[in-house]
Amino acid sequence: MERKLASIQCIYSIDDIPGADNIQVATVKGWKLVVKKGEFEVGDNAIYCEIDSFLPIRGEFEFLRKSSYKKMGDQEGFRLRTIKLRGQVSQGLLLPISILLDKIYADQYKALKIGDDVSEALGILKYEPPIPAELSGVMKGGFPNFIPKTDEERIQNLTEVYPNFRKSNFYVTEKLDGSSATFYINNGVFGVCSRNIDLLESEGNSFWKVARQLKLEEKMKESEKNICLQGELIGEGIQGNPYKLKGQHVYFFNAFDIDEQRYLSLNEFAEIMEWFELETVPFVFNDYSIPETIDEFLSFAEGKSILNPNAEREGLVIRNHARTISFKVISNKFLLKQE
Ligand code: ATP
Ligand code: MN
Repeated sequence: MERKLASIQCIYSIDDIPGADNIQVATVKGWKLVVKKGEFEVGDNAIYCEIDSFLPIRGEFEFLRKSSYKKMGDQEGFRLRTIKLRGQVSQGLLLPISILLDKIYADQYKALKIGDDVSEALGILKYEPPIPAELSGVMKGGFPNFIPKTDEERIQNLTEVYPNFRKSNFYVTEKLDGSSATFYINNGVFGVCSRNIDLLESEGNSFWKVARQLKLEEKMKESEKNICLQGELIGEGIQGNPYKLKGQHVYFFNAFDIDEQRYLSLNEFAEIMEWFELETVPFVFNDYSIPETIDEFLSFAEGKSILNPNAEREGLVIRNHARTISFKVISNKFLLKQE
């Protein structure tokens, strides 16, 4: 699922911030962000840009220079990140829809509706930090089309369906801050993928190194089925190794049956992890009912890592036992600490 970085959204509410005269806090879907007083009104449609948007250098975005100027490779731009203003967490940016007037055709402009993705029209990309060489690797092919990618939706984008989730029984794991790793065996072919590509085997590539260390090819071939295992690669050289681990390790969170095109349920997943003697991501709760509000959920996501109690955890991943619902709740405390 591609992230809609900039989309048309309705402003659900605008509230005062204690002690602040010129700014207020707007709510858009499950997101809260600081706006100038009087700039928008409740019920207005506007362009909402999510955090991690990388905006092009343009006159209309120059006000972001001081807070958000960043380079991505050779490209210059403005990167939106989580900030705090007058004690209020602020995530993203609202822009008036009229900014699109000279960027799309008049009939397209008139037809704009809530949810429409306008990232391309505005030249907005997703900010991606640089990837170290041992993790990037050489491409053998695109990400296999018979396996889903490991993306998780953010809770702030799930306000409409959230009330329906109350009926389900969930389990909660800690979201680890590393690099997504996929291992599969399909019709006798063993493959190793990073988040977006199938990797050629090499001596130095970190994903292949751990695959050999864990004897994944041998183990997965034993199962005599076409399956895929997905986990987070963490440790030395990855995302600054916040957990201060020695070496590199994979903590697994998915098992996918390629023939049946379905994720294994929690029980089936646990069984396969035990059989292969592989580690799972840390479990926070096995049986969990979700809180009343998204704000409560966001506070619950803050806390220390189970892997290293000195590290702030990135957040949580929430799934129902049948593995048909899955989403992430990122800790704002963690996001505020990021550079
Ligand atoms: P964005 O959604 O902002 O584009 P992203 O694509 O890098 O960011 P993440 O925010 O890293 O995605 O969230 C999804 C990723 O979380 C998965 O790709 C997976 O690699 C990783 N992950 C870490 N821990 C877990 C966990 N416990 N359960 C599931 N996924 C996890
Ligand atoms: Mn993603």
